[in-house]
Amino acid sequence: MQQPASASQIDGRSTGTRPVFGALLRGAMLRCPACGLGAMFRRYLKVADACPHCGEALHHQRADDAPPYFTIVIVGHVVVSLVLAVEMAYHPPLWLHAALWLPLTVILSLVLLSSVKGALVALQWALLMHGFDPDFKEDSFDADPT
Ligand SMILES: [Zn+2]
Repeated sequence: MQQPASASQIDGRSTGTRPVFGALLRGAMLRCPACGLGAMFRRYLKVADACPHCGEALHHQRADDAPPYFTIVIVGHVVVSLVLAVEMAYHPPLWLHAALWLPLTVILSLVLLSSVKGALVALQWALLMHGFDPDFKEDSFDADPT
């Protein structure tokens, strides 16, 4: 059984303070937002159910479409800025633009996507969103309103 690194946990959810900026940095480095030591992902974009180091439950995350959205925004600003700067300075032929910017766009997107997802999951954790709140009751959404 894994021992929690923080003072205490309730159902795998730490009850201590959750600094937002520190959690964002840990998440962007693909580390557990609670301890910063365990890996957040068990595969490229597959978030681990719990931190392998401290046992913090990470399966509550609901990043959904936000990581690709923010990755597109970041990569778009970087690549379009570079395209415009190179075009203004050197006026290269179109084939050179395609040879430069298409691979750069793909590589930057694949590299940044996991860090952006890690930061967003860490933000959800720090803000006690979804099931990351220690006071969250799993069955609160299961109640039948009829
Ligand atoms: Zn951890």
